[in-house]
Amino acid sequence: MARHPMMAANWKMNKTVREAEEYTAALLPRAADAEEEVDVAVCVPLTCLHEVGRMAEDSAVMAGAQNFYYEDSGAYTGEVSAPMLLDVGARVVIVGHSERREVFGETDEMVARKAKRAVEADLLPIICVGETKEERDAGGMWEKVSDQVRQVIEELEDAGGESIVFAYEPIWAIGTGETATPEDAQDAIGRIRDLLRETKGDDFADTVRILYGGSVKPENAAEIMAQKDVDGALVGGASLEVESFVELIWAAQNAVAQTEN
Ligand code: PEP
Repeated sequence: MARHPMMAANWKMNKTVREAEEYTAALLPRAADAEEEVDVAVCVPLTCLHEVGRMAEDSAVMAGAQNFYYEDSGAYTGEVSAPMLLDVGARVVIVGHSERREVFGETDEMVARKAKRAVEADLLPIICVGETKEERDAGGMWEKVSDQVRQVIEELEDAGGESIVFAYEPIWAIGTGETATPEDAQDAIGRIRDLLRETKGDDFADTVRILYGGSVKPENAAEIMAQKDVDGALVGGASLEVESFVELIWAAQNAVAQTEN
C-alpha cells in the first residue's frame, strides 16, 4: 500500500510574524505544485501560527505547532491546548521532540498523553522518537526507540495508522550536521514498522507514516527518501530558508516518481 510522503518543517524558535508571512507566501504556490504527491507541513512558533494558519487555510500546506499540553484549559501557565491550536488553524503538531524531552523534561508518559489528546482533537501528531549517541554506541538504540514507540501505542488504543505520524530522529543527528546513513535510517524505521505490524496489525503498519529527522538537507535528501520504509522527513535547519525546504519537497516528489517507475 503506497503511503503519501510528508515533508515537515520545524522552525524551532525562529522567525518573526513578518518573516513567517514572507516565507509562507513564497511556499504556498511551490507546495501546490507538489500537493498530489507530497503532504507539506510547517510547524512554526506559536506567535506566527495564527498568521500562517490563516494564509494556509485553503491550501494543501498544513500549519502546525511544535508542542501543546494535553489538558484543554485550566491553571497551566504558559501552555496552550489542542482546541487553542485548532482555533488558530493548526492541523498538525510535533509531539515529544528531543529538545522538549531534553531541555524541558518531557517524559515518555507525557509524550504518550499528548499524542492521544492530539488524535482525539483531530490534530495530526508527529511523534518524535530517537536515541542519544551514548545509547547508540552502547548498542541500546532499539531498546530506547522501541520503548518510546510502545508507550505511545499503548496509550493510543484504537487510533488508526493514518491518524498519527512517527518521526525517527536520532538525537546525535539533530542540528549537528551529522546525518544517519540512509541504511541506518531504513534499519530503525523498518524496525519501528515491524513493531507496529506485530502489535497493531497490517493495516496500521501499512498506513502509518514514519519520517526521518536529523540534519536532512537538499544534498542528502534523495538517498534518504529512497529508502523503502522512509515516508518523508522532519526538517529543522534546512527548512528555515524557503528555497531549501522547497528542494526537499522536490526530493520527496522525485522519490515518489521513482517508486512508480
Ligand atoms: C528537528 O528539529 O527535528 C531536526 C531534525 O533538526 P535538523 O534538521 O536541524 O537536524
